[in-house]
Amino acid sequence: MANDFLYSQPVKIWFGEGKIRELGEILKDTGASRCFLVCDRFLRPAAEKLMGEIPEICGIFSDIEENPQISGVREAALLIRSLGADSVAGMGGGSTMDTAKFAAAIACESEDALAYFRGVRKFPAKRLPMIAIPTTAGTGSEVTQVSVTSCGKEKKTINDPAFMPRAALVDPELTYSVPKRTTMNTGLDALAHALEGYWSRNHQPIPDLMAAEAVRLVLGNLERAWRDGNDREARRNMSMAALLGGLSFAVPKTAGCHACSYPLSEDYHLPHGEACAFTLSAFVRINADDRLEKLARDAGLSGTEELAERIDELKRIGGLRTRLSDLEDLDFDRLCRDCEAHPLMKNNPVEMTAGSLRKMFETLA
Ligand code: ZN
Repeated sequence: MANDFLYSQPVKIWFGEGKIRELGEILKDTGASRCFLVCDRFLRPAAEKLMGEIPEICGIFSDIEENPQISGVREAALLIRSLGADSVAGMGGGSTMDTAKFAAAIACESEDALAYFRGVRKFPAKRLPMIAIPTTAGTGSEVTQVSVTSCGKEKKTINDPAFMPRAALVDPELTYSVPKRTTMNTGLDALAHALEGYWSRNHQPIPDLMAAEAVRLVLGNLERAWRDGNDREARRNMSMAALLGGLSFAVPKTAGCHACSYPLSEDYHLPHGEACAFTLSAFVRINADDRLEKLARDAGLSGTEELAERIDELKRIGGLRTRLSDLEDLDFDRLCRDCEAHPLMKNNPVEMTAGSLRKMFETLA
């Protein structure tokens, strides 16, 4: 039947304030007796404290760059092998999660990380279980099989079952210290995941429901979390929104905004969330239909136009770049071409050509 679907979500999710203090038990539940911890640089002291308390943690790697490099994956995988670790935990933002996922996927084999990055080798069937511990509320990486890594300037998004975490530990308390700008960027990334999963050509009934709730939570809580990072309720709701956002696109995949985000972040250095937000309201207007109208109304808005306006307002409040004139050394033709060529653009419900993208970007002039 045309409306049949297959839905699967293989990650065991642990959610709650202070959940990080149960990491030892969660590792045991995952079958981990020697867990290698990958974390953001600035989380190193916290990671060392955890290592002192939890005997299952056997080593730490925190040499993560902003655009995680394949050399970091290689180094982490070598350490994992030399320590005889049987599992990998990633604690941090998107970059850390990307590195931990990749390293866990290849650590059982001696083949160099570059062979997998280049696609010369398929990911091995045998891999280590990965436990994702997000410290920002946005990427949803804890429930997706996506990893973005770079080799020098060459950036690649790899979507492979080898990257699916075994477990996710989502502790809203870990997000309390996230700076304002990152709170807004990552929160809008979560909103983009929910909306794009919802309007994706491959949308499905179960992710649709999660998308609707994620949109409602972001609209009701992102500004609050941005204004006061210690607003426990807003932070909890944003952690939940990010998790649901991840679940919204894990199966249907994202579409136009994420397609445009890659040239915007590679060539104009916008952080991922800011790059997704750049075209988000424009795509709300382009993709507006009865389904999206219903989602906007269910989220308490008057309709899709108000949804687009709310997104623009959040970007303005957060001081994000919103216009083409904010991009340095703009090569407009190339930007339109690269956005059109990105594979995710094919997932957008309204077909986008270089011409229609040009028109869309002109509304952001
Ligand atoms: Zn994203």
